[in-house]
Amino acid sequence: MTAQQIRQAFLDFFASKGHTIVPSAPIVVKNDPTLMFTNAGMNQFKDIFLGESAAKYPRVADTQRCLRVSGKHNDLEEVGIDTYHHTMFEMLGNWSFGDYFKQEAIAWSWELLTKVYGISADRLYVTVFEGDEKEQLPRDQEAYNYWKQHIAEDRILLGNKKDNFWEMGETGPCGPCSEIHYDGRSEEERARVDGKALVNADDPNVIEIWNNVFMQFNRLKDGSLQALPARHVDTGMGFERLVRVLQGKTSNYDTDVFQPLIQFIAEKSGKPYNAAATPGTEGWNEAVAMRVMADHIRAISFAIADGQLPSNNKAGYVIRRILRRAVRYAYQYLGFKEPFLNQLVPLLAEQFKGVFDELWSQKDFVQKVVSEEENAFLRNLELGLRRLDTYFDLSNEMGIATHLDEDVAEHIKIKREFNEDRKNRLVNGTFAFTLSDTFGFPLDLTELIAREKGFNVNVEQFEHELQQQKNRSRAATAIDTGDWVILQDDDSVEFTGYDETETVAHIIKYRKVKTKGKEQYQIVLDKTPFYAESGGQVGDVGDLIFPNGDIIPVTDTKKENGLIVHFTDTLPQDMSDALTAYVDPERRLSIENNHSATHLLHAALKQVLGSHVNQKGSLVNENNLRFDFSHFSKVTEEELAQIEAIVNQKVRENIALQEERNVPYQQAISSGVTALFGEKYGDYVRVITFDETFSKELCGGTHIQHTGQIGYFKIVSESAVAAGVRRIEAISGIAAENFITEQARLVQQLKELLKNPKDVTKSIETLLDENSRLKKEIEKSIQEKAAGLKTELAQKAEAVNGINFIAQKVELPNAEAVKTLAYQLKDIVSDLFLVLAANFDGKPNLTVMIAEDLVKSRNLNAGAIVRDLAKEIQGGGGGQPFFATAGGKDASGLDRALAKAKSFVL
Ligand code: ATP
Ligand code: MG
Repeated sequence: MTAQQIRQAFLDFFASKGHTIVPSAPIVVKNDPTLMFTNAGMNQFKDIFLGESAAKYPRVADTQRCLRVSGKHNDLEEVGIDTYHHTMFEMLGNWSFGDYFKQEAIAWSWELLTKVYGISADRLYVTVFEGDEKEQLPRDQEAYNYWKQHIAEDRILLGNKKDNFWEMGETGPCGPCSEIHYDGRSEEERARVDGKALVNADDPNVIEIWNNVFMQFNRLKDGSLQALPARHVDTGMGFERLVRVLQGKTSNYDTDVFQPLIQFIAEKSGKPYNAAATPGTEGWNEAVAMRVMADHIRAISFAIADGQLPSNNKAGYVIRRILRRAVRYAYQYLGFKEPFLNQLVPLLAEQFKGVFDELWSQKDFVQKVVSEEENAFLRNLELGLRRLDTYFDLSNEMGIATHLDEDVAEHIKIKREFNEDRKNRLVNGTFAFTLSDTFGFPLDLTELIAREKGFNVNVEQFEHELQQQKNRSRAATAIDTGDWVILQDDDSVEFTGYDETETVAHIIKYRKVKTKGKEQYQIVLDKTPFYAESGGQVGDVGDLIFPNGDIIPVTDTKKENGLIVHFTDTLPQDMSDALTAYVDPERRLSIENNHSATHLLHAALKQVLGSHVNQKGSLVNENNLRFDFSHFSKVTEEELAQIEAIVNQKVRENIALQEERNVPYQQAISSGVTALFGEKYGDYVRVITFDETFSKELCGGTHIQHTGQIGYFKIVSESAVAAGVRRIEAISGIAAENFITEQARLVQQLKELLKNPKDVTKSIETLLDENSRLKKEIEKSIQEKAAGLKTELAQKAEAVNGINFIAQKVELPNAEAVKTLAYQLKDIVSDLFLVLAANFDGKPNLTVMIAEDLVKSRNLNAGAIVRDLAKEIQGGGGGQPFFATAGGKDASGLDRALAKAKSFVL
């Protein structure tokens, strides 16, 4: 069976058991502060398990793209080294929401594996939760008894809480689980060692393929467990592992999921893929590198296709790190010195056509982003290697650590430490950390290169620095969330904000949250006109007004799973009262102006630049709008003018908003509506239209009733945000009017300053020309003056101990002129020791120039001397041994400095 057929068979099987097949959610998670990436099939159903929204279907099944590279599940370090953990993988799953439970789940998983897929029963083991005394949880006898009906009892193993009790997070739904393991060893091996002993023991040939979770409890904040009213089934099977089993391979990478990629890499690198290589043997590094590349490109590509660009923080940084890890392997072990990973994108897109089409439709964009990232990192890789070379060259004093330049004292201390460590053939941990932090150098790469040079790396110090950085970022994001206090046991929240900005409502529940030491409250209402931040539109602010006169300001509104959460700084006295939820109407109107203007802009961009323009992010607030979109070159002035003109034309047409709230998704798509990649749409969608033939988008945001309301639309900037992504910032309404008024006033002021010329531009050009001509003339006269001074000073040279000593005050306008004079004197006076004092508009200046011979033979240092002399003018300075300068505060000390100069040559 091919991978495609295996996937289809899974979906068909569960469809035949009454399951609705749903699409995969995007791999990048939005609207959940606890999760960056989808790491299990159940993520998209989390609010159903939490009881925050109702299940649409009692039984569903799907294949979900998952990523396990951060947070609770992080398999990154295993990937490429072992044969069965990936960064991105597909999780096949079936769910029951309060419908069937253990009996059916167990029977069907067994039927699918042994009957449909034909896996031999004597290669399978299952595990069941053994119970836990501390938690007062009994053994899952129910699951045990159902399994007994299908499989020999000696193949049912008991497992502990770690392996067989599944929890979503610190709090929330949880329950016992039952895993299915496959023994893929040879007959001889199986005869020699009993497979039972190898289950959950990290044997690469006895692996977990499927986990069936039976959710029956809810974990509260105090750690206690509560029985759930409705019990659910949640299963997850690793698709790539299943394919490996069914295709009779011993590694996921030997299946048709990965082989096309690996063969391509092998061919292009000119090195064979040696699947059997073991650590330390020939071909091992190359094999790991190929597996890493074939694996990582999947994670990178799908994350980008789902809207997560590589960046310097949060989810974006996770993707960047994965990409760098792959580039490093490619560079170091396969000799790819030029961007290469991106060439795998078209191959991958082809492979997932018809499964996850978001990659195919954006393959050029994804490839471009990957290629730019590779380019940037390859440059860093080289720079970092050069830094390391300097570090290893012991004939040099170190002048590096420029990242610390802001703090000079710290800089000197660290430099000293570096030089000390270098003598002991140790790579300083702070230095290794800088390499990783600034150049994206992984520690193991630094270690490897160090070893070649006979150096060790201070790993402890590196880890310390890393930990400190982690602590800093953790402290910045730590959120302490209290339990919900429930007032009304009703979780259906109605949003009224499309139709009104004032609604009478009741509090359903509230809780206290603490972020960065600040306490806030989160309040959920049964009905609310407050729009919760999403789709780029900021959350509403306003007031909750109570009958007793209490007014509680709402500072922000956000979504959490299915809920609309109002943020406040205080709680009202009486929370059972009906209240009026009141959205600040003026602010809301400005936001709506900008949001509707964004739709017009999007449509105009497609019209002017082409249909490849896709939204890559947007921000809409009361002040302005920001719109990021895929486009490969700078948008020209003419194009911008054209785009602006189209939008303003549509504004003047005063088009009425056409809002359809419950359109079936498929129907909307076939009507040609613009949908966004990486967005999870429900079965019913909201369509916002401004002129059937112009702008039609899926959107949950709030909009104005007629485009004329926008008044005027003005683009204020166009720039690049990432490879292949441009950003337009624009304003509308009153903000646009103010902007134009301000611009007009500025031009008026300029005109007046220039005495109202006919052509303002021309008259400024004339001014600039004249200015540069005058500058040149002044420069020339200074040079002439310096040349005159040169002969005069040379004659004043006094012979002291075989040195030609000059210490004089000069009248020159700037340091540049004094420097020129000093260099000229050095050329005509041999064995020169020169000190020049000057006064630039009250700022004293000292310059010391010493002939290079003297620097060596008399051990003189201009830098040290100028610093000493500068004390007389209350200043400081420095430079090189033969030339140095200083500035100061007290011009009256110049004479004293000149008098002191001679003491250095006596
Ligand atoms: P393991 O112990 O092998 O890491 P797990 O206990 O983390 O697995 P679950 O969280 O139960 O796995 O996920 C369900 C299934 O998803 C597993 O049975 C396995 O087949 C698959 N799976 C889990 N992690 C990965 C991964 N990193 N790459 C590929 N498949 C995975
Ligand atoms: Mg795991």
